[in-house]
Amino acid sequence: MTVPSQPPATTSAAHIALDIDLPLHRIVGIGPTKAQRLEKLGLTTVRDLLFHLPRRYEDTRETVPLRALQPGSIQTARVRVRNVSLRISPVKRVKLVEATLEDDGASALAVWFNQPFLAKQIVSGMELLVSGKVELSRSGLTFRNPAWERARRDQVHVGTLAPIYPETDHVSSKFLRATIEPLLGLAAQVPDRLPPAVRDAEHLMPIADALHQVHEPRSVESAQQGRERIAFEELFMLQLAAERARRRRLRGVGVVVPYDVEVARSLVATLPFKLTDGQRVAAHEILTDLAAPGPMNRLLQGDVGSGKTVVAALAALMTHHAGMQTAVMAPTEILARQHFATLDQLLSPHGLPPRLLVGSTSAAARREILAGLAAGHDSLIVGTHALIEDDVVLVNLGLAVVDEQHRFGVAQRRRLRQTSGAMPNYLAMTATPIPRSLSNTLYGDVDLSELREMPPGRQRVQTRVVPVHERDSAYEFIRSEVRAGRQAFVICPIIEESDKTGARSATAEFERLSTTVFPDLRVELLHGRMPAREKSERMQRFVQGDADVLVATSVVEVGVDVPNASIMVIEDAQRFGLAQLHQFRGRVGRDQYQSYCLLFEGGIDEEGSARLAAVAAIDSGFDLAERDLQLRGPGSLVGLRQHGLPDMLAADLLDVALAHRARAAALRWLDGDPDLTAWQPLSEAMNVYRAVFDID
Ligand code: ADP
Ligand code: MG
Repeated sequence: MTVPSQPPATTSAAHIALDIDLPLHRIVGIGPTKAQRLEKLGLTTVRDLLFHLPRRYEDTRETVPLRALQPGSIQTARVRVRNVSLRISPVKRVKLVEATLEDDGASALAVWFNQPFLAKQIVSGMELLVSGKVELSRSGLTFRNPAWERARRDQVHVGTLAPIYPETDHVSSKFLRATIEPLLGLAAQVPDRLPPAVRDAEHLMPIADALHQVHEPRSVESAQQGRERIAFEELFMLQLAAERARRRRLRGVGVVVPYDVEVARSLVATLPFKLTDGQRVAAHEILTDLAAPGPMNRLLQGDVGSGKTVVAALAALMTHHAGMQTAVMAPTEILARQHFATLDQLLSPHGLPPRLLVGSTSAAARREILAGLAAGHDSLIVGTHALIEDDVVLVNLGLAVVDEQHRFGVAQRRRLRQTSGAMPNYLAMTATPIPRSLSNTLYGDVDLSELREMPPGRQRVQTRVVPVHERDSAYEFIRSEVRAGRQAFVICPIIEESDKTGARSATAEFERLSTTVFPDLRVELLHGRMPAREKSERMQRFVQGDADVLVATSVVEVGVDVPNASIMVIEDAQRFGLAQLHQFRGRVGRDQYQSYCLLFEGGIDEEGSARLAAVAAIDSGFDLAERDLQLRGPGSLVGLRQHGLPDMLAADLLDVALAHRARAAALRWLDGDPDLTAWQPLSEAMNVYRAVFDID
């Protein structure tokens, strides 16, 4: 610990030097026990505490004289204490602390339950502020379990705008206030990442003031301004990092794949269908990016079945014609095999047969494939994580395609790009679209292509939320569909019965359906805990039509193409996210048969019901994602953490206006300071973001 060279910022800890990165247990007045409690909230340093922002404020600034107390309402009064007593209530045998309160003209009572220690803390003669629900009891007007604080010049808890924090066991807002308040002076040591010029232009207060205002606000408005200032900084950093990475990438030397219109035409000409407008636009955007000098970084979003693979195939063929390799990585073996089959069909006739590399590829086949890749013979490789193992070398990777990229970590994605020497073009594909409002904030660095329309002739999957009393008729309906030659999925949220959740499990449902409900049908079970070989055998039986009903867990969420299946039943549907439900639904309606998605609700849950109603009413994954965002907030979507980014403490990702302001400010700042050397706290803070955005 260093000796302070200037007077310490706080009085309560005046005899030691304080430093915002100091672990909390070393702070006087905190100690190991308190520090341990705080750690439950993820708070380990003074800085963490300062940035532990209130959820809201409790305004008890308006006090009333005791004679004006109204029973039934929550009120605050400034009082003097008389007669404190501790007793056991005769009926329920709880410990009661009772105090008589007085002010100039009147008196009232306060009662606290189960807090016997208060009898020692609150003593006769003390001046207090009390705030709480007022009730009329036999002994008169009574504050029931009021919040209280001794009257002083600066109230922290009562008689003020008191912050209400995210809490946990034994870490109450009161505890947090009492812990944070004496440390607030240290806010002056928090480096202000926002350059003064940006602050001035945006009329934002310095970070130290913002921290003061959120924890000890002067007014509701100043608390709001303080919070907004912190939110602005978070968004500014994100936008700055994204835009900086983007500019560097576009300046960088990438692999150039010339855009040969004839090559594109030759593939399109052999397709058994016409490309949708969306596919044509997306393909054009991608091929244009490939031909530009900076490496491409593009996200292709489109619902299941919207035809993303064809677009990727065009890019792969173009890359092949330029003499370079394409790698397509998918999160599961099922998906990888499906891409392989589709690409094989599309591209083998054009002299580009894909190779498949997955976990179950035999050692001999793997050796042969690795040799081919390293020698540059094979130019289209499809696979799983098996593609990023250390000994996989792609000599001249021109294009890396990653399907459902949010299922991979940042490091894995980067590893794929680094399997070759140069900086390849990068195309991410996802069937879980991020709403525009969020993608601008989250994916500032990424160019977006979207397939919003489905190929023509697609069925609309009829989706219904099935009430409990209609379960039997739903089963009858399934039976009739199966009699007509169709197949059905039944999805359960868990593998095995567990008392904890009470959810329907795949194994129990399988038992029930195969013995009681559908003894006459062929029922198959599939879940993630089965060995890979068994999984694929069982799946294969269903694909070939040797099973009528497949009971499964979310393993069928991605991939799995069974055109003959026309029914998707989802048990305990409220337990799944909207995007996931939509994914399940995308498993049916893949042929000419009218298809159905039946959502069985497992329990009463208002928010869950609203979500199920949304799935039933909305067909487009893009529109559903927007709705999900409204219903559950941005936390439900792909998390920042998953992207390796710091959490947003203050910023609301739905606050589009603030995001735009931050983005505009970030672009202006970058124009003047492209290497971010002008403001040191800013360049230091950027290091965290660099790891995420910089791909080289
Ligand atoms: P996604 O990967 O987006 O889920 P796919 O690329 O696998 O979708 O395409 C789904 C199915 O639709 C495939 O059988 C594909 O051949 C077919 N398809 C793709 N584009 C079209 C189109 N424009 N018209 C008709 N069918 C199409
Ligand atoms: Mg696909």
